[in-house]
Amino acid sequence: MLTDASKRTETWVKVLDQSKCIGCHACTTACKSENEVPLGVTRTYVKAVDVGVFPHVRRNFQVTRCNQCDNPPCVAACPTGAMYQRPDGIVDFDKSICIGCKACMAACPYDAIFINPDDHSAEKCNFCAHRLEVGLEPACVVVCPTEAILIGRLDDPSSPVTKIIHRQSVAVRSPDKGTRPKVYYKGAHQATLDPIAATRPGGDTFMWSEIQRGPNTTVSGHPAEFHDSNLSAEAKLAYDVAHSAPWGWKVSLYTWTKGISAGAYLVPILLVLLHRLPWSSPVVRFVGPITSLVFLGITGVLLIIDLKHPERFHLIFLKGRIQSWLVRGAWGLMLFGGVVTLDLVAAIFHARTLEELLAIPGIPLACLAALYTAFLFAQAKARDLWQNPLLPPHLVVQALLVGAAITLFGVAAANPLHVAYLDRIVSALAVINLAMVIGEATITHPTAKAHLASYEMTRGRFRWFFLVGILLNLLAIATPVVGMDLGVAALLCILPLEHAFVQAGQAVPLA
Ligand code: SF4
Ligand code: SF4
Repeated sequence: MLTDASKRTETWVKVLDQSKCIGCHACTTACKSENEVPLGVTRTYVKAVDVGVFPHVRRNFQVTRCNQCDNPPCVAACPTGAMYQRPDGIVDFDKSICIGCKACMAACPYDAIFINPDDHSAEKCNFCAHRLEVGLEPACVVVCPTEAILIGRLDDPSSPVTKIIHRQSVAVRSPDKGTRPKVYYKGAHQATLDPIAATRPGGDTFMWSEIQRGPNTTVSGHPAEFHDSNLSAEAKLAYDVAHSAPWGWKVSLYTWTKGISAGAYLVPILLVLLHRLPWSSPVVRFVGPITSLVFLGITGVLLIIDLKHPERFHLIFLKGRIQSWLVRGAWGLMLFGGVVTLDLVAAIFHARTLEELLAIPGIPLACLAALYTAFLFAQAKARDLWQNPLLPPHLVVQALLVGAAITLFGVAAANPLHVAYLDRIVSALAVINLAMVIGEATITHPTAKAHLASYEMTRGRFRWFFLVGILLNLLAIATPVVGMDLGVAALLCILPLEHAFVQAGQAVPLA
């Protein structure tokens, strides 16, 4: 739950004085000990960036952790309230109701949250709230040998942190995100604050470690071959920890199966309304609803098995916070599934009037099922590529395209005479989809992070998925010329394109 900032009696803030930090990592170690943080993950760590050209080079540090945002996107995105804001402004977590959906990780613009590998729940720095409650300073503050980490209350004018924040030059990370961080940096170099300003080191090595690479990892800095006028050629990342992309292939696959579910129901009904198919067609009565339910079921399974706590899935409904698009989407999919099930029952019992009436809630619910992911992605404030106002209509076009392909095969089996216009519909939708994909990839991106994400999608790590998707999309356009078999290309092209989009959005470092 978000706390009204105007009603707070106290607000804890921190100052990280990078002009004093010697990069000793004592804070990292003390935090691990205090909070029993397992190996391989950290609540706080010290990033290092070398700036300059030999012999005039200086190593700069950034103590990296949760920024205790006054307007925390992680809290807004959490479906169960497991990530919440206390009355004193501290953003804390309740592991007992975390379902492990990683929506908070996708939303945090500072990559401050991780899933604890031991208990599978989300975790991060909480200013050592348990120590503050008994009058003790956080473990990192106590252990820092140079007093580079300071904590205090913003409502206390005598506090050293208040004096520094009000009288000296301080900076926060990614102020453009509107999160109002309560962790202030003093004397930090911009090459450390901006996660893509520095170049990633060649040879995959940091100071004392190898860079961890893999399908779900993201390394800070930018790839050497990526050129952007805002990036510094004289800053090189010297040390960072492994960062993970929260949403993997199951999320890409679920966006595809969900699109098929929505489209398989929607397209036949729309064709009836356009007088292209009769209500009595088996495609409208059986093929559409059955395909829709099968893929909705697959979508549900994918959503549940992607949770780190699948056994707590019911908390989305029992504890669901309606501002989370994960909750809204879950309810929308459930209602959509209910309407399609009723529609199928009505078809089995020849209740034509009921079938027709069910289209009234069915059409908007199918559209909601197709497009709500755009709002779920937009709630992931950290991912600039996903903040695209064209995404909702694009997801509807994708659902219509795969739905038209399914309908094409259904009609070919049941009403072969109608194939002639359906393959042209598939082709037209494939043209629209291609135009939207190319438009999204080539527009002038509003931020350097969106630019880097687009680069990773089209020319970087995920280019092969993108290119295969484009190729299948081109084949789908040729359906009326080559034959309805190319409808398979229309059905499949969305999957690699979605995977490239979902993964590239998370391939940009945030810390
Ligand atoms: S830094 Fe991230 S985890 Fe911390 S409060 Fe802000 S959004 Fe939440
Ligand atoms: S993983 Fe999901 S349920 Fe757990 S804190 Fe994050 S958003 Fe909330």
